[in-house]
Amino acid sequence: MKADPQAQEQLLELPQTDHRLAQLRREVETSQLKARAKETRAAVVTAEETLVGARTQIKDLEREITRAEQDVQTVRSRVDRDQQTLDSGAATPKQMTDIQHELQSLARRQAELEDVELEIMESLEQMNSTVRDAEQAMDQARRDAQEAAAAWDRREDEIASETVALEQHRADVVAMLPADLVALYEKIRARSGLGAGLLRHARCGSCQLELSSSDLDRVRSAPADEVVRCEECGAIMVRTPESGL
Ligand SMILES: [Zn+2]
Repeated sequence: MKADPQAQEQLLELPQTDHRLAQLRREVETSQLKARAKETRAAVVTAEETLVGARTQIKDLEREITRAEQDVQTVRSRVDRDQQTLDSGAATPKQMTDIQHELQSLARRQAELEDVELEIMESLEQMNSTVRDAEQAMDQARRDAQEAAAAWDRREDEIASETVALEQHRADVVAMLPADLVALYEKIRARSGLGAGLLRHARCGSCQLELSSSDLDRVRSAPADEVVRCEECGAIMVRTPESGL
């Protein structure tokens, strides 16, 4: 293929632009900032679940305390009633003995219930402290997630603007170049990833391999408007005064 040497030199803009575009695409896929944003979002969900779990346990414990208090209250009412009966002096000696037995067993029952209530209150206290810790952990997780999301948003915006600018530049370059040269570049690039490079210090600018002396002779003797290709990678080797031929 033939192409004006100046067009060939302009063609070098494409691999540079394409390389940078590929770098940016790779960054979007592999960015640590993006990974951190995702991780911190997941940490917020976990922290929220922990907090909801702890708050649910508090509600359960509060219900248990209410129940225990009601049980204690029931026993106390029974004790009061028994005591009134005793105090009224209306009971027979047999009834009085029975009531005294019952009062003893009610006292034991009340002590047991109060122990239970105490245990639940201790659990509640622990759970309240767990909730406070979980709230702090969640606040921290939310702050981390906000920071990480903002950092990735900033970088994502930068990547997006740079990509738009590069794509515009690429379109401008392509518009200036002969269509067949661009088509050849795209064809080679689709196959090997690299379509063209500057020939310099007897090395192909795409695969960086050194040309054999016979190959170098071939390239030197080729007319300036001949599009020469690398024997190794197939890429277009652009010759400029920089090539040092
Ligand atoms: Zn090559």
